[in-house]
Amino acid sequence: MTSDTPDFSQGAAFVEGRYVPAREARVSILDWGFTRSDVTYDVVHVRDGGFFRLDDHLDRFERSLAGLRLVPPHARAAIAAILDRCVALSDLRDAYVAMICTRGRPRVFGSRRPADCDNLFSAYAIPWIDVIPPDVQARGAHLHIASVPRIPAASIDPTMKNYHWGDLTRGLFEAHDAGADTAVLLDAEGFVTEGPGFNVFMVRNGEVLTPDRGALEGITRRSVLELCALTGVPARLAPLRREDLLSADEMFCTTTAGGVMPVSRVDGHIMGNDAPGPLSLRLKQLYWQKHAEGWHRTEVNYTGAGT
Ligand code: PLP
Repeated sequence: MTSDTPDFSQGAAFVEGRYVPAREARVSILDWGFTRSDVTYDVVHVRDGGFFRLDDHLDRFERSLAGLRLVPPHARAAIAAILDRCVALSDLRDAYVAMICTRGRPRVFGSRRPADCDNLFSAYAIPWIDVIPPDVQARGAHLHIASVPRIPAASIDPTMKNYHWGDLTRGLFEAHDAGADTAVLLDAEGFVTEGPGFNVFMVRNGEVLTPDRGALEGITRRSVLELCALTGVPARLAPLRREDLLSADEMFCTTTAGGVMPVSRVDGHIMGNDAPGPLSLRLKQLYWQKHAEGWHRTEVNYTGAGT
């Protein structure tokens, strides 16, 4: 590598039509994605050289775009090619791959009309991230039920992936102040929703339950529900309250950036032997086993990186 060759080893990004090292990627300070959180995004992972459920992530990204009236300047196939190229340039076998569409800037300076903005598409691939670190997953995460309620779904639809993280960030501070690893938020009516970057599940009397409201329709959540169906484990969406979590036999969280992540404590409630539960561990093992078997896999085209 010469000094002029970009160093993509810590990730590659696509911004304003150019591929740059992820650390150098910048968007304008005037982009409404920054000034108004007027943005949607999605994150897909690459495991051992293959995307997992790429089409499902692109489908959800398209639904979020439509819901927020954002129109990126690239069609779906071009977006898939950009994601592939970001991974290939960085030569990562395990990667966190984000696609982002911001409102951009108004064509007419000073306009307050969202329709006057040129929407901007950006993407990046960076080394694998676990939302809950592997050592914490191994002992089981400690969850704190936050006092701050999740932003109402009628205001910000949680099924459109967004950066309205003010409530989740407050929840994280609360959790860390309480000595917990991360947070789970209730809605204003007291129903369990989700946490900062993950869906939550509980197991009670052999049944797997996950909130029926107030949460992103997680692709990992869908995978877990499919794995339950495949293995004959009863599972369903249900209205869940704090008391339900406090009576759980097991809990786990799910996300693209980590997979199935066991929980051992929620507030004062210690589950099992203060360790990941057996069904959580079985689902986690199965989730990665299915990856290794090529379930929902799209190969990364590493050879096209230089073209
Ligand atoms: N909920 C929130 C708020 C998230 O940000 C995420 C993922 O980033 C999830 C849930 C999990 O969704 P997925 O499994 O599709 O990654």
